[in-house]
Amino acid sequence: MVTRVRHYARSLAAVSVLTGSVALAGCTSSTDAAEPGGRLVVATTVAPLTSIVANIGGDRISVTGIVPEGTNSHTFEPDPSVAGLLSDADLILVNGLKLEDPTLQLAQANKRPETEIVEVGNEVLPESEYIYDFSFPKEEGKPNPHLWTDPVLAGEYATVMAKKFSELDPDNAATYDANLKAFLAKTTALADALEADQASVPGGIKLVTYHDAYAYVGQRYGWDVVGAIQPSNFAEPTPSEVAALIDQVKAEKVSAVFGSEVFPSPVLEEIANEAGAQYIDDLRDDDLPGEPGDPEHSFLGLMRFDYQTIIEGLGGQAPTLKSLDVSDVAPDTAKYPQ
Ligand SMILES: [Zn+2]
Repeated sequence: MVTRVRHYARSLAAVSVLTGSVALAGCTSSTDAAEPGGRLVVATTVAPLTSIVANIGGDRISVTGIVPEGTNSHTFEPDPSVAGLLSDADLILVNGLKLEDPTLQLAQANKRPETEIVEVGNEVLPESEYIYDFSFPKEEGKPNPHLWTDPVLAGEYATVMAKKFSELDPDNAATYDANLKAFLAKTTALADALEADQASVPGGIKLVTYHDAYAYVGQRYGWDVVGAIQPSNFAEPTPSEVAALIDQVKAEKVSAVFGSEVFPSPVLEEIANEAGAQYIDDLRDDDLPGEPGDPEHSFLGLMRFDYQTIIEGLGGQAPTLKSLDVSDVAPDTAKYPQ
């Protein structure tokens, strides 16, 4: 009898704990802003996107990236534990162009019914302008997804984000708009610096990279994107592909070839050596410089680093890029998984 009473008391306690948590959950999901304190909860994927989100949202939003920095975002599969973040989100922002299909599936399965998933790249670029190439062949159906390395498209990403934030959180619309204006001024300065400094490269930019992340920026700024070496399955190229690339690098008189920190490749070094070109191994794909909290750990810092590396590697000078202020326009409170 005593045991039964105690058991009943424990059940009551359990019910009250449950009721408490249900009440809390109801409170956090009932309005536009799901976080206690009223901040919009945003989930995003790769670090450059997360940094642009942070610039526009500042401390008015809570943003968490999903793809750890320095990992292959093209083959990344999220841990099932990411489902919790996706179910808490008021807005889910992905790059799109089929970069994050596994994350997209997890988001669709776990998000709240009212939460919108925005594929930002698909919003800013019509399908007719998708670029397909050696690493992203059309027959495999996945276009080159690296829109963010183009400063103009990055500005358009920011514009889409600011519009979504203002729709979901109109009380802070003026802040999002001010951050957008400040950020667009910085992407314009970045683009101007790129154009000014690339003029110093003898013969113009002829680009051979391992990872194929510069197709759109190259198209806009008149680069000769000779080729990228990484095959579409992210394996190493075959010996005959390597031989063909060595011939091409020699024929085009490319002075340097560029590897990526995210995808170290002995093959690229071999191609450079055989073709008499310099090998530069430290381009970054979606890995921001420094550590979270450092001033250069930002989208602007990443692009300044990559453009400067390409221009100086090909024999040019980059004084305008070097003197750019790449600090964020708003406090970066984003969580970047490492
Ligand atoms: Zn990439």
